Amino acid sequence: MIIQEASPEEIRRTLKALTEIQEIDLELADIAEERGGLPEQVEALAAQIAEYEEYITAKEDERVRAEKTAGESGQRLASARDLLAKYQQQLYAVTTTREYDAITTEQETAKREISEFELLISTNSERAIELAQMVEDKRAELEQLRAEKVSREEELERKLKETEGEEKVLLDRRSGFAKDLNPRLLAHYERIRDAKDGRGIAVLVGEACGGCFALIPPQTQVVIRQTRDIYACEACGRFVAPAELD
Ligand SMILES: [Zn+2]
Repeated sequence: MIIQEASPEEIRRTLKALTEIQEIDLELADIAEERGGLPEQVEALAAQIAEYEEYITAKEDERVRAEKTAGESGQRLASARDLLAKYQQQLYAVTTTREYDAITTEQETAKREISEFELLISTNSERAIELAQMVEDKRAELEQLRAEKVSREEELERKLKETEGEEKVLLDRRSGFAKDLNPRLLAHYERIRDAKDGRGIAVLVGEACGGCFALIPPQTQVVIRQTRDIYACEACGRFVAPAELD
């Protein structure tokens, strides 16, 4: 890239400014990353908490239904047992085979119902106990999640306060370096920085671009070392500065 009528000293200054801007941009990116992670974590925790609350509500409802079924089955079991006892009494008073058959049929039905209700009581009582345990376990996990969310939120708030000042200082310093730069150069740097892992300027490492390690022709290396021009790597587009700029 040709910078018209620039002395090696001016080119050196330009490359130094770009290098400073690069350092500042990396720090700004670190700040953004630190902040960027926390809101996401808080959001993920909030979603998980909502999921757990939904789970607990559903299992609580299920437990209440199971207990209700067990309770109702208990009442119906008592009625069926009373009925069975009543049939037993009636049997003593029967006078015909028909009456006897009718009552014994009723007795069979009552016995069948009794075992059905007993089964309903035991399965629903067991299920209710199981559900209560599930709810209790989940509640303990939920409490942990809530505490975790509070601490993440506090961390985020603290970090925001901390980094606001730091960020402003960095942005002010950056403006200081940027104001004297050729806008086309700065735009090129920013475009490459955004496209290439946050780095728009590299140093000459041996015979290669320190950004992508593509070899640079010997005569260009000389131009770079003597800061006779500003060179953008043909492979990655990053500006290439000499390793020693002072
Ligand atoms: Zn390169």
